[in-house]
Amino acid sequence: MRSLAIETHVVGDGGGLTLPRDDIIAAFSNAGVDLTFTEGDAIDVDPAQSALTSYEDLVADYRAKDRSFGHLIIGKLSPHPGRDVVGELLDLASRGVAAVYTSSEYIQAAGEDGLAQTAAHELGHMCNLSHGDVSTAYQSTMERATSRTEAVSDAWAFAAAEAKTVEPAYYSAPARIPACYPFALQARSLLNTLSPSQTDPWGSPFEHTGEAADDTWRASCAISLRAHSSPCRVGGPLAFDLLVRNTSEHPVRVPFRLHPTFGGVSVRVHGPDGASHVHQPRTLGCSSRSRILPPGDAMRYPFCSLRGPSGGLFTRAGRHAVAVTLAGLGPQPAPLELQIDPSPAPSPEARRVTRWLTGGARRPSRPQHQAFTAVVRGGALDPATRAIAALALYRRARDPDSAADLWRHATAAGAPAAVRHRAVVLEAMRRRAADGLSRAMIDDLIDAHLDPNLDIAVAHQLQELAG
Ligand SMILES: [Zn+2]
Repeated sequence: MRSLAIETHVVGDGGGLTLPRDDIIAAFSNAGVDLTFTEGDAIDVDPAQSALTSYEDLVADYRAKDRSFGHLIIGKLSPHPGRDVVGELLDLASRGVAAVYTSSEYIQAAGEDGLAQTAAHELGHMCNLSHGDVSTAYQSTMERATSRTEAVSDAWAFAAAEAKTVEPAYYSAPARIPACYPFALQARSLLNTLSPSQTDPWGSPFEHTGEAADDTWRASCAISLRAHSSPCRVGGPLAFDLLVRNTSEHPVRVPFRLHPTFGGVSVRVHGPDGASHVHQPRTLGCSSRSRILPPGDAMRYPFCSLRGPSGGLFTRAGRHAVAVTLAGLGPQPAPLELQIDPSPAPSPEARRVTRWLTGGARRPSRPQHQAFTAVVRGGALDPATRAIAALALYRRARDPDSAADLWRHATAAGAPAAVRHRAVVLEAMRRRAADGLSRAMIDDLIDAHLDPNLDIAVAHQLQELAG
């Protein structure tokens, strides 16, 4: 029997919920995995809300000091604005750390059963299982949260019946029905046949194969790509909008998030020398939400990244093509053609800031924060990179004046939509935490920074924050 050793870390009071360990252990044991939990150090401040630490920092800490366990963080808020992200594999490079977010709307509504289901799902990702490792006959652990609607006992009854008809079934009947779903046959088979380095935490990278084309929306929608308006330069970011328009005559349910970080879509950049690379997200987030798009309406999903295979994204000037691929079959927009201009030799300070950003913008020391802030205020960075840097520093700013100044740079003209949206939502969260958020402020933020026809999801998040 395979074994999986997990250390748990609870943020604050864990949202008042206790992880139903026995249920999760039963679901893994059914699939041939001997799961053990050990209680690790608690996390006092919520990494999603702290200027001093972040989930990226925690991953770096665990990677440096403790790789004898996989680490499961029982978090509160997710680091992604909004309450739809239920859990996340925080380390796609070696699958060592995952989190569940007890303040998410899904776990808030489903309580400890929802926590058990989400934790089992995220630990499934930690063992290299994807959203494609599911069954068409019954609902199972790796189903996305939006699709986990069937009674858990029905799913176990179907899984038990199926196990009698296949060989090998990798199925040992649980002593009692746990609160979480069974693993599908495909998932159980992988858990038992992949090599240990492919399933053990801190092993091989997460493999994105098998992502299911689980949505029918693409047949009803036209998808297009639009470049961010400012010129693209060597060393600068890739920023574009993915636009989804409902061209049918009926309302269509579309994903709330459409981004490599949430699976189902990949971004490939083809360079002028014929070489190409796929953008690698750092984490895999699991969202519980979708959105109804009325006929004729469009939604914008902005993308912005600075990271390429060896640090910067565009390493040489010339024509680049950006192709976006949606999982499974379906319409695919024509590639975006970009002319990348040579950039003047960056100053050593600008290069240091860019290196910090492409390396994940980890916890800066106080002098580093001051030095990088000075670079943002100076003219050494292109407008898009400056906005990205300003946003990363804004999240770590300790005094309000510096935060306000950085926020202005993050939302200035030339800031990519992805950066601006995140800055606007974070600012609303910050004001709410200080008890200073009014409806009028939300309306001002929407008027000044969003396109009300396209940015429906962000506007909705802001309205929710106002309560
Ligand atoms: Zn997931």
